[in-house]
Amino acid sequence: MAPAASSITPSPPFPVAQWAMEALERLWSAGHAAYLVGGVVRDGSLGRQTGDGVPDLATSALPDEVLRLFPGGGYENRFGTVLYGTRPKEVEITTFRRDHRYGDHRRPDEVTFTDSIEEDLVRRDFTINAIAWGRAAGSGEAKMVDPTGGQADMALRRLRAVGDPDVRFDEDALRLVRAARIAAQVGFAIEDGTLAAMKRHSGDVRYVAAERVGQELGRMLRAAPPSAAFRILAATDLLQPLFPELAAQRGVPQDKLPGHDLWDHCLAALDAAAVIAPSDERLRMAALLHDIGKPATFADGHFVGHDAEGARMAGALLNRVAYPSRDADHVVRLIANHMFSYEPAWSDAAVRRFMRRVGVDLVDDLMLLRMADNVGSGVPAEAGHLPELRERVEEQRRSNAPLALADLAVDGHDLLRELGREPGPWLGALLDRLLESVVADPSRNTAERLLADARAWSA
Ligand code: ATP
Ligand code: MG
Repeated sequence: MAPAASSITPSPPFPVAQWAMEALERLWSAGHAAYLVGGVVRDGSLGRQTGDGVPDLATSALPDEVLRLFPGGGYENRFGTVLYGTRPKEVEITTFRRDHRYGDHRRPDEVTFTDSIEEDLVRRDFTINAIAWGRAAGSGEAKMVDPTGGQADMALRRLRAVGDPDVRFDEDALRLVRAARIAAQVGFAIEDGTLAAMKRHSGDVRYVAAERVGQELGRMLRAAPPSAAFRILAATDLLQPLFPELAAQRGVPQDKLPGHDLWDHCLAALDAAAVIAPSDERLRMAALLHDIGKPATFADGHFVGHDAEGARMAGALLNRVAYPSRDADHVVRLIANHMFSYEPAWSDAAVRRFMRRVGVDLVDDLMLLRMADNVGSGVPAEAGHLPELRERVEEQRRSNAPLALADLAVDGHDLLRELGREPGPWLGALLDRLLESVVADPSRNTAERLLADARAWSA
C-alpha cells in the first residue's frame, strides 16, 4: 500500500508496529542512521508474528545519545542496548558495533561502536537475522541492507550462519540453541555447513546459562509444530548436553506405534497437545516430559513407578531452567497423575476419590494430557472412555460434591472446640478421615454428623 501523499515517513515492505516506526523517525530526524533489524524484519517478511514482539533497531547514534533521544529508556546490557517504552510498546535500540574476542564462549569481551550498518550486520548470527531496513544518516532513501544474502536464504527457506559457522558457534554457544529454535519457528532447514558445525560444537552448550536455555525452551515449545526444534536438537547432538533426561528416551522401546521409540512417542504427544489446546503452554511441557521417568524405571522391562519418578525428574529439570515455579508445580502434578485408568464400572464414589486425589483444579487438564498421550500412542484421542469420565466428573461438579477440606461442613476450629483438645498432627489426620467419609458418601457432610464421627473416632 502506497503511503499517503502528505506522509514523509517511508514504509517498509513488511508490517511493522507504529511505535517502532516512530522510534526510527526520531533517530532519523536527529540526523542518525537507523534501521529495523532482526526478528521484526525476518518474521515480518515471512508474514508471521514476531517471537517476543519487541522490535529491534540498530543505529549509528551512540548509547548516551540514544538515551537522550529516548528519555525514560534504560540500558539493557553492558554493551549499551537501550530498552525504551512500556509493554507491549517497547523497542530495543542498539548502536552499530563490532564484537571482539569471545573469551567465555558466550559474550564478546569488548565491543567497538561503528557507523557502518554493514559492519553491524556481519557480526550477527544468521543471515536471515542480518537483514536491515532503514536509512543512512542524512540520506533520503530508505532501503533494505543485506550484505550476507539473507533474502536469498529466506527464499530458499534455509538458516545459515553468517560467515564461518565454526567460528560463529565457537564465539557464542547460545547461537547453537538459537539455530534450533529459530529454524523451528520459521520452519526452515538448516544449511548443511551450518548443521555440520552445530554437531562439532554441540558440547559447547555447557557454556550457556540454564535460565537462558529455559527461555529458548519456552520458545521452542511455541513453534509449530513444537517437535521441530527437539528433532533438530537430537539430530545435532545438542539434546544430550542440554536435556540428558530427554536424550535418555531415545531408543527406549515402546509397544505403541510401530517403529516409534519412547522419544518419538513424547514428540507425537507434544505435537498433539499443541493441536488439542493451542494456547496451553503448560500442557505442552507436560506432554514433552510426561514419560521422562520411563528410562530410569525400565530395568525390569516395565515402567513401574515412572509417574512418580517422572514427576520428580520433571521438577528438577524445570527448576534447573528456572521455569516459573507455579507453572512447574502444575506440570509436575499432571505428570504425577497421568497414569489414571478409568473404568465404566467405577462407582460415583470412585469418581469423587479420583477428583479428590488429582485435585479438582487439575482434572480437566489431566484429561487433555491423556488425549495428547493417546494421540501420541496412535489411539483415538478419547480412548479410555474419556467422554464418559468427563461427563461423570461434570455431574459431581454440578452436584457440588464435597471434594476438598474447604468443602467440609466443619473446620479445624470446630473440631478443637468440640473435642476440647490441643491442636496437633491428630487434627489433620482426623480432617482427612472426615473428608474421606464424605467423599464416599456426600450425605454425611453435615456439621452434626461430622462432629459425632469426630467424637467417635477420637475416643
Ligand atoms: P525474536 O526476538 O523473535 O526471538 P530475534 O532474531 O529478534 O528473534 P533477538 O534476541 O531479539 O532475536 O535478537 C535480535 C537480533 O540480534 C537477532 O536477529 C540477531 O541479528 C542479533 N542477535 C541476537 N542474539 C545474537 C547472538 N547470540 N549472536 C549474534 N547475533 C545475535
Ligand atoms: Mg527480537
